[in-house]
Amino acid sequence: MLPGPVQEAIQQAIVDFEGQGISVLGLSHRSQRFQEMLHSAQTRLRALLGISEDYAVLFCGYGAALHFSALPLNLMPENGLAIYEMSGYWSDRAADEAEHFGQIWRFQSPFQMQAKARQEAHSMREQMLGKDIPAYIYYCSNETIDGIAWPSLPDCWYSEVPIPLVADMTSTILSKRIDVNAHGVICASAQKNMGITGLSVLIIRKDLLGQARSQTPRLLNYETLFETNSIPNTANVLSIFALEHMLIWIQQQGGLPKMEERAQLRSDLLYSFIDGSTLYLNDVPAELRSRTNVPFVLRDPVLTTGFLAGAEERGLLQLEGHRSRGGVRASLYNAMPLDGVVRLTEWMREFEQKQR
Ligand code: PMP
Repeated sequence: MLPGPVQEAIQQAIVDFEGQGISVLGLSHRSQRFQEMLHSAQTRLRALLGISEDYAVLFCGYGAALHFSALPLNLMPENGLAIYEMSGYWSDRAADEAEHFGQIWRFQSPFQMQAKARQEAHSMREQMLGKDIPAYIYYCSNETIDGIAWPSLPDCWYSEVPIPLVADMTSTILSKRIDVNAHGVICASAQKNMGITGLSVLIIRKDLLGQARSQTPRLLNYETLFETNSIPNTANVLSIFALEHMLIWIQQQGGLPKMEERAQLRSDLLYSFIDGSTLYLNDVPAELRSRTNVPFVLRDPVLTTGFLAGAEERGLLQLEGHRSRGGVRASLYNAMPLDGVVRLTEWMREFEQKQR
């Protein structure tokens, strides 16, 4: 969902953009005003995330799923190798795509292993990497569907040479503070925490630009994006407009410390309710639980349809779990008010009492 003021700014701009008698939908991507919008979004993102001049901040007219192909094309040489940390659905999809372009080592995420297994995996990884140096190490910071978040950054200790860390942050970007400098590349679709669909943000260390394979399609080539200041073709004006207003809203709310605090409050409320109930279950270990996506099941699955129907009657919408998993999933992105979770837990309590 979008915050009210952002939605209103979009509505207004669609009817009449800044009193110019045109709609934002008709605003040229070559206009001075659009250039300003783009610049404003870049500057605000830099300020919010603390992005230094060593990094380029680029906008792409497609979602993170296309970066699954663009990343290996830009970072991995022909016959190259990359490591993918497997933590759930989206890291799996990313590795599937990358396999079209090179050798992919799918490593089970160490955080999902016991201490002994972790030590063994560590030694095994070191042996495997005797002389092969991966082009990058990929991870998905928050598995949107599984409700699993990396509790800390993945290790990059495999070789003497630092290996760039590449992150898909689609479902957590701008919901908490992050260490951009620990990463070579960060990509994220805009529609969850920072606007609407049709756009992704790419934060890339500048020394990683210019290595794309020769057959890389122009629009997927990160260097082309950099050289054209994110306008290699007709830009998605409306998505950039929404992004700019979302960034203004986040800044006005108090920036990332505030977003983080709210994300903790929302998710704590829901997890503690689930853990205290006998009907609902979230089996993700506490230290790995996502603060933006809370999937849960009803211990008697037959009840799920009735639970979701009742939720919908109460205006609690889009709670159905991902089609690959079923169950229920509450996505608690930046714009979700705490009251949304309060109302959800009220319905959960009422429904549970009805079963007694
Ligand atoms: N990565 C993650 C973590 C996601 O949650 C999603 C979408 N839900 C994607 C990638 C794919 O994003 P898009 O559909 O915008 O390309």
